[in-house]
Amino acid sequence: MLLKTILNRIQKHPGFVYGPIRLHQEGVELLLEVVIRPRAKGQAVCSGCQCRRPGYDTLSARRFEFVPMWGIKVFFLYALRRVDCGSCGVKVEAVPWAQGKSPLTTTYAWFLARWAKRLSWKETAAVFHSSWHSVVRSVKMAVAWGLEHRNLNGVSAIGIDEIARGRGQKYATLVYQIDAGAKRLLWVGRDRTEKTLLRFFDWFGDKRSAAVRFVCTDMWKPYLRIVARKAAQAVHVLDRFHIMSHMSKAIDAVRAKEIKELKAKGKNPVLTGTRWCLLKRPENLTEGQEIKLKELLNCNLKTVRAYLLKEDFQWFWEYMPPWAGKFLDAWCKRTMRSRLKPMKKVAKMLRAHRDLVLNWFRAKNGLVALGVVEGLNNKARVTTKRSYGFRSYHLLDLALYQTLGDLPEPKATHEFF
Ligand SMILES: [Zn+2]
Repeated sequence: MLLKTILNRIQKHPGFVYGPIRLHQEGVELLLEVVIRPRAKGQAVCSGCQCRRPGYDTLSARRFEFVPMWGIKVFFLYALRRVDCGSCGVKVEAVPWAQGKSPLTTTYAWFLARWAKRLSWKETAAVFHSSWHSVVRSVKMAVAWGLEHRNLNGVSAIGIDEIARGRGQKYATLVYQIDAGAKRLLWVGRDRTEKTLLRFFDWFGDKRSAAVRFVCTDMWKPYLRIVARKAAQAVHVLDRFHIMSHMSKAIDAVRAKEIKELKAKGKNPVLTGTRWCLLKRPENLTEGQEIKLKELLNCNLKTVRAYLLKEDFQWFWEYMPPWAGKFLDAWCKRTMRSRLKPMKKVAKMLRAHRDLVLNWFRAKNGLVALGVVEGLNNKARVTTKRSYGFRSYHLLDLALYQTLGDLPEPKATHEFF
């Protein structure tokens, strides 16, 4: 069977025909060159206005990289025509297999972009003997297309989260859709200030913002203020994941201080290597960690008291609304008497936002995927870590949209994998 027959089946371009196909050797690399020619009487399309226009001249032939076959690189070879356009002047023609000045065919760019979702960008470039730049270019194209074609209707629950970018205290704000049936990243913004979140609501628009029924955030003041202003109709929920991570941080602080104190007194530092015993849920502990935790609980340590307060708080999520409020008050009272400064700070925060904390129970009965912020946050963190090498924030945003955006893709006549 001729390769041309296959190409005509999977990648036909109206107005153009496939010509001869040649096998070349360049250095150690084999490559296939597929000549493309315009149909005899077909007029070229002006890339400025997308209208058919009379020809002006023809440039020298250029290569457009296509999906490789049997480990052999494949290129389309085509001499672009220039048109004499009444409205745009002399312009290069638009061709259906590539966009603008890209040296990649659109099909190949989608191919790379899809693989770059499964592998890292670097790995994708290596596996397909492509360059990192070609992969980035492809991901950019795919993300831009996806953002333009995604449907933003019907967003009724959003989660707002922050993430540290790179080393140093630089943050990004991420806004997710967390409806039960649709979980995805909607927006990424630099920093975590009021202005950041205002930019999100401006972009999202008044109409869509007014349709939001639930907003899930951390107790971060700038977020609290802007949500109250821009989505006042929504039930504002302080997320379970965020509350529990405040407690974990408090335990970390108590533990770090106590280790120092023990060391200063020359005592046996029983606490070293116990961090995960204290932060994990008991049911997730390994056998070794379980034994260690048991030992630890027998010691009269501040860290142990903090741990017990945290574990006790887990019950909060099991209560029904009026009882949950009573439990919360009692827990805060007890914690305020604990003389554990970091834990008291958490209790103060919970007291200050009592209503928003209790809103969690209202949201639980709505169609909100409450646990989802934690999962999305983890995924975002992995993506960010993997992207530390990126010089620009723009690339990090790109990676976040690519992995978390659940972006649509165009329907193709042939799936290349
Ligand atoms: Zn034109």
